[in-house]
Amino acid sequence: MNDVTLRLQGLSKTYLKGTPGEIEVLRGADLELRAGEAVALVAPSGAGKSTLLHIAGLLDVPDTGTVQIAGQEATGKRDRTRTAIRRKDVGFVYQFHHLLPEFTALENIVLPQLANGVAQTAANERALKLLERVGIAQRANHRPAALSGGEQQRVAFCRALANEPRVLLADEPTGNLDPETSDQVFDVLMNLVHEAGLSALIATHNLELAARMDRTVRLDSGVIKPAV
Ligand code: ADP
Repeated sequence: MNDVTLRLQGLSKTYLKGTPGEIEVLRGADLELRAGEAVALVAPSGAGKSTLLHIAGLLDVPDTGTVQIAGQEATGKRDRTRTAIRRKDVGFVYQFHHLLPEFTALENIVLPQLANGVAQTAANERALKLLERVGIAQRANHRPAALSGGEQQRVAFCRALANEPRVLLADEPTGNLDPETSDQVFDVLMNLVHEAGLSALIATHNLELAARMDRTVRLDSGVIKPAV
């Protein structure tokens, strides 16, 4: 037993296989993330960062290779099992918040917990605690449209952490924000990751943000390499 919470081994993925437009995106990518570790995933646009994150988060399947999350082998499992692992142990954050517009900030954090079998009262309490933690409890009853970009993204972090996942996957999580807000919101995210002791894999183009994480890896010609 060790504290590796995300283990990707030998991942390969080719789109449009067997056609003239075939794109070999991953060619044997390996990566291990330990509990409490925030790792920056850096690569140019089109290099395959989103593909890797989707496979790691069990939203897509690799052609070959394996994905282990919190000690569970997800490869080759039925969709129901993969969905259950994803709901329980994986949180996602995207560049755009993707909050449900007709629900309040609090409700957006409560809903994934209800879907995961948590009782309403406990879900409300946890949602409020998370909003307090990111400094916007006073916005709990506002809908996303009434929140600033930075506030929306803070709510998106809370939603991603609602079910206490072991792994957080983020694709340019502050990419839509102005530099100052991005800086503040990124601090909030790093604190959440380190406090919760989860593993975070965060794709970014921003080398300054990458430098504030525990480690940087790059995706180069379909494999993971240490940062240069
Ligand atoms: P990144 O996130 O680094 O920008 P992506 O993982 O989105 O890279 O894409 C990697 C490559 O795979 C790109 O050339 C993209 O056009 C291609 N691609 C991604 N998804 C698909 C798909 N579903 N079908 C065909 N090609 C895809």
